[in-house]
Amino acid sequence: MDRTPSAYPDTQLFVDGEWRAGAEGKTIPVADPATGEVIGQVAHATRPDLDAALAAVERGFRTWSAVSAFDRAKLMRKAAALLRERSDRIAEIMTREQGKPLAEAKGEVMAGADVIDWFAEEARRTYGQVIPGRAPGVMQLTVKLPVGPVAAFTPWNFPINQIVRKLSAALAAGCSIIVKAPEETPASPAELIRAFAEAGAPAGVVNLVYGVPAEISEYLIPHPVIRKISFTGSTPVGKHLAALAGAHMKRATMELGGHAPAIIFEDANLDKAVKVLAAAKFRNAGQVCVSPTRFLVQERVYDRVVDAFTAAAKSIRVGNGLEEGTQMGPLANERRIPALESLIQDALDHGAELKTGGRRIGNKGNFFEPTVLSNVSREARIMNDEPFGPVAVFNPFSTLDEAVEESNRLPFGLASYAFTGSVETAHELAMRIEAGMTTINHNGLALPEVPFGGVKDSGHGTEGGSEAIEAYLVTKLVSQAAA
Ligand code: NAD
Repeated sequence: MDRTPSAYPDTQLFVDGEWRAGAEGKTIPVADPATGEVIGQVAHATRPDLDAALAAVERGFRTWSAVSAFDRAKLMRKAAALLRERSDRIAEIMTREQGKPLAEAKGEVMAGADVIDWFAEEARRTYGQVIPGRAPGVMQLTVKLPVGPVAAFTPWNFPINQIVRKLSAALAAGCSIIVKAPEETPASPAELIRAFAEAGAPAGVVNLVYGVPAEISEYLIPHPVIRKISFTGSTPVGKHLAALAGAHMKRATMELGGHAPAIIFEDANLDKAVKVLAAAKFRNAGQVCVSPTRFLVQERVYDRVVDAFTAAAKSIRVGNGLEEGTQMGPLANERRIPALESLIQDALDHGAELKTGGRRIGNKGNFFEPTVLSNVSREARIMNDEPFGPVAVFNPFSTLDEAVEESNRLPFGLASYAFTGSVETAHELAMRIEAGMTTINHNGLALPEVPFGGVKDSGHGTEGGSEAIEAYLVTKLVSQAAA
């Protein structure tokens, strides 16, 4: 059954507690990736808007850092409740601008509310220490203080989730924030910001801008008001922004690209492995930094697993995310289609076998076939560059050492997956795979309470778990003796 969507909203900037057009009146069109049609406009910030946001975020920091953790948490929980109440409408907006199936969009909104609640609780647990003094009467304390105003830069693949982890950690810590949200998918993030505004966030505490990403980051990161940056996106952009942050001595969290290995041993529950990994691969059309990509299958079960995975890929219903029964929507941007076509062609040129997919579907919207490639040379680009699309790449291996060597071959180290019936193998993999996250015999990534982040070229810092809030806090020593 088709749904008749409600009107898609235009999106404004949110600066100093007010929704407003860009100072120069510029807007950027927003397209529906399922139809290619322009469905709305997003306000484009220029220098005067950024200056206004910087002045606001500085004032917002003074206000918010003086609010108790208890009251910050109360406000955050209210925002989470508003998000849940509005989840159906926000999910529809997200599907229209990003393409993912409605159920995935709704799941993202609900998960966003969970993230807010979790960080709200963390706000009340920013404990310091009491350190024994050397001299009698000396009391040494550490207190955790908010680092200062934050600038966050987030991408279009999870329009709410990518923001909510940064926003919630910042607010919980007592920081104010300017979010540069994705221009391709602007309206659902704006609903997240609206929930905080309507929950009572004081003016200037939360600010939202859109525009030319490079112009905004080059201006905000060096600016003296900004004390901390957080970026999610590709490794090359992340390296550039981290260098800029370093040059200006700003704290930085970098959540960058991955190229996750998914290792299946012959003693694994193969049906479960295929089911879990196919769901993970094609979720959000593979536009996920933790998407399993390099499938390594032990040689005795290789053909069986590739066949089962190919059958799973063929059974996926690709369509408009608003239509009931759609399991995979279009790619979010038109530019991903030639990028994928070129990666797949290069793999075939290097001798890979195309088991299914490989092509764009139709000529309207950015639909792409779920794709499986087998026996792909290490020289092929797709074995080295993140495909960021619905493509699974299979190769056989014989020994655990070989699987570990291939897993660690690339400069990336974000997610990794493994399926095995052996506790010893599981333990070896857990200790030897160079990645921020290893999930074994199930998909257990990205809950609010567990760490989320990478090593090597996948970035640094974590956006989940009890350490996440630390990125927004400074530890200050207070050493005090009797007068
Ligand atoms: P891109 O590298 O042009 O942009 C990635 C993101 O970074 C976008 O949101 C963009 O707005 C932002 N960006 C780009 N230049 C910037 C700058 N100078 N300052 C601040 N922000 C900047 O790539 P793309 O075509 O949008 O996406 C393709 C690639 O990006 C993918 O192959 C994938 O590797 C990566 N990506 C990763 C994630 C993730 O979750 N880690 C999300 C989206 C994209």
